[in-house]
Amino acid sequence: MAENSTPCLFCRIVRREAPGKIVFEDDLVTAFEDVHPRSPTHVLIVPRKHIESLDALGSEDESLIGHLHMVAAQLARDRGIQKTGYRTVINTGAHAGQSVFHIHLHLLGGRSMAWPPG
Ligand code: AMP
Repeated sequence: MAENSTPCLFCRIVRREAPGKIVFEDDLVTAFEDVHPRSPTHVLIVPRKHIESLDALGSEDESLIGHLHMVAAQLARDRGIQKTGYRTVINTGAHAGQSVFHIHLHLLGGRSMAWPPG
């Protein structure tokens, strides 16, 4: 689905049409604070391009998905949480609890976490 033909919330945050606490931006991605943080650091890294989920990725998106992780690692270093560790998560579909259908990488850190996730 094209970015301009959807009321997608994360597209609107990327375009600054909806409020969001943006912490990083480049040509490919925007990162902003999760509105309901599950840990002291909870940032969402999203591609500027609208992609619904991991399942909708095309081969042309391979480097983009790598870039999301590179940005997450840099944000983790900026916040010093690489010292204690952090978790990166992409939820895909109903069983994983995906609630916003614009792919996003969660960066969670600042507390210890259980495994496996619930
Ligand atoms: P997921 O359940 O993996 O699809 O994650 C969606 C995330 O988006 C959740 O952690 C929500 O708290 C977060 N979220 C929903 N609306 C907003 C918003 N307006 N600004 C920032 N984060 C949001």
